[in-house]
Order: sequence, then structure tokens, then C-alpha cells
Amino acid sequence: MDKRDIKDFTLEEIKKAVVEIGESGYRAEQIFFWLYKKGVCDFQEMSNLPQAFRSKLEQDYYISALSLAGKLSSADGTEKFLFNLGDGNFIETVLICARNRKTVCLSTQAGCKFGCVFCASGHGGFIRDLSPSEIINQILFLQHRLKHKITNYVFMGMGEPLDNCDNVLKAIMIMNSKSGMDIGARRITVSTCGVIPGIRRLTDLGLQINLSISLHAVTDNLRDTLVPANKRYPLKKLIEAGEHFTKKTGRILTLEYVLIKGRNDSLKDAAELEAIAGRLKAKVNLIPCSPVPGLGFQPPSKKDIDIFMDKLIQGKIKVTRRESKGRDIQAACGQLAGRLKQKDG
Ligand code: SAH
Repeated sequence: MDKRDIKDFTLEEIKKAVVEIGESGYRAEQIFFWLYKKGVCDFQEMSNLPQAFRSKLEQDYYISALSLAGKLSSADGTEKFLFNLGDGNFIETVLICARNRKTVCLSTQAGCKFGCVFCASGHGGFIRDLSPSEIINQILFLQHRLKHKITNYVFMGMGEPLDNCDNVLKAIMIMNSKSGMDIGARRITVSTCGVIPGIRRLTDLGLQINLSISLHAVTDNLRDTLVPANKRYPLKKLIEAGEHFTKKTGRILTLEYVLIKGRNDSLKDAAELEAIAGRLKAKVNLIPCSPVPGLGFQPPSKKDIDIFMDKLIQGKIKVTRRESKGRDIQAACGQLAGRLKQKDG
């Protein structure tokens, strides 16, 4: 039997496996302690496990880690890490430092199937899902290798988290486990272009997790062209799924809205966005489009962004505007890994 990556398993799964080989269930908690609280990469370092048990674990499992292929630091404090997955593919993880927050932006897939027209990740096509360990290892690298004290975790890197639902939910369980990383669900945000079955699964998880929906357009006609996932998961159904999430979890939903000059930035768009956000009792996060070379989309002028934002504020919608971070290091989703692939291929 091939060795398995131990970080692909939840605490419950490890407990079961440990009991099956005749050890006590609490050993699983000890393993989690070493993997996630200490960040060890060798079973021999798990000093409170009996030697024979360590050797048995070594026979059946290995402990993975990501290798860093490159790092870019922005003048504004944003750092972008490029990781080599070991199979010729690369993913990006972004660390955004702002005031007293350190937010890590996690990738969930190499590439993306969904092809949002302004996004670099979608443009390069889909390669593969990340495993739970590849998701978790992005955090461990920053926490244990680089000693960053991360405060917030957002699934807003490359890929569509809810299209890799099994692995993302597993990663969330490992993150949230008291014996493991012990990250409160309220500090975790999943962002989706609108994969409704995944929104339902996340809702049913019963965790106090945050959900962001990448809305970007307020009519099906326009959304079909900007966010092609809309053809499969149209607005009406998406809004219903968002409403269900809010009712069931009691959490406030965020609607992300990438502002693109001349496409979705009119006052009429703002009025409809106000109506949708009002109905969902959602916050709106306005994101001036970060131009990806070759795609031809630009952000509106600062003045037009202000007018759009004011309309929402007048409608008593809670609205934030994402500061453009890391533009000098191509921090927008998928830009760096995309460039690397172009160079290689
Ligand atoms: N697939 C998920 C998460 C990854 S993208 C989703 O769609 O939500 C994270 C956010 O960045 C999304 O809101 C996405 O639409 C946005 N984004 C992608 N490319 C962008 C660009 N060029 N400028 C601004 N925002 C962008």
C-alpha cells in the first residue's frame, strides 16, 4: 500500500485509524498537536508517542510540506508566495497585512474551471483540485516556517473552493479542530462565484463560518457574460441559497462586487445591488477591478467608484471598498502562477 499524507485526514479519521491498529484514540489528539500546534515534519519528533507507534505511523503515512518557489513583497506590505506542488504545477498564497490584521488568502485549486472574464486564474484553465493537505500546508508554511501570526483566513486565492468541496470542508475541519489549528470559524471566509450545492453543504456544516458571494452583476444577462457560472446557477436561485445560509447560520453574508468600467458600474446597477443586499441583509464589498494584461477590463475612475458607493450608503447598505493591495506584485487572483506557466510553456 502506498503511504498516505497524514494531513489529508480529519481528527476523527485519524482516531479511527489509530484505534484500528490497536492504539488508544487519544493518540490522534497527540498527533494533531505535533502536526498543527508544533508544525513538525517528522514522526520521530512526536516525543510523547511510543517509539513502536511512531515507526508504525512512518510505515503507513508521510508528512508533507510545500516548497517555496518564489516570493514577492509589495511596497504596501502584501506578500505573495508561490508554491511548487511537486508535479509541475504552482499555486499562490497571499498574505495581506493591514493595521492589526494579517489575512491569508488561500488557493483551493490549481487553475479554475469557472472562467470569470476578468480573472487571471480562470483564464489559464483548470488543472486540478488541491488536496486538504495542500490547502492546510499553505497556512502551516506561513505560521511555522515564517512565524506569522495570522488573524484571518479567506478562501479567495486560485480556484473555486466550493467546486472542491470535499477537500475544502476537510481542510476547514482540520483548521477548526481544537486539537489542531484551533482557528475559530468566525475567522474563516469562503468565497464562491455561486456554486449553489456547495453553499448548501457549507450551510449544513453548522459552523459560524463567513460566506462571500462573488456577485459582480445584478441581472442574469450581464452576469452570464461576466461570471459564466451564472448560466448554471442563476441569480434567483443563488440569492435564495444566500438567504437560506443567512437564516440558518445567523451569519452576515458578504456580496463581492468587482467594479468594471462601463460594464457594471452604473447607478442602475447600484440601485439593483442595493435591493439585493437589502433583501439578504448583506454587506457589500466593492473591489475596483485589478486589470489583468490582455483581458481588457479596467476599474472605473475614483469619482465613479465614489458615486456607486454613495448610492449604496444612502440605501443604508453596509459597504466596504477593498483597497487595492499588492498591485505591484500582481496579487490579483492567479496572476503570478499564470505568468509562470506562460513562461514555462
Ligand atoms: N472562486 C472564488 C474565490 C477566488 S477569487 C470566487 O469567485 O469568489 C476571489 C475574488 O477575487 C472573487 O470575488 C473574484 O471575482 C475576485 N477577482 C478575480 N479577479 C479579479 C480581478 N482581476 N480584479 C478584482 N477582483 C478579482
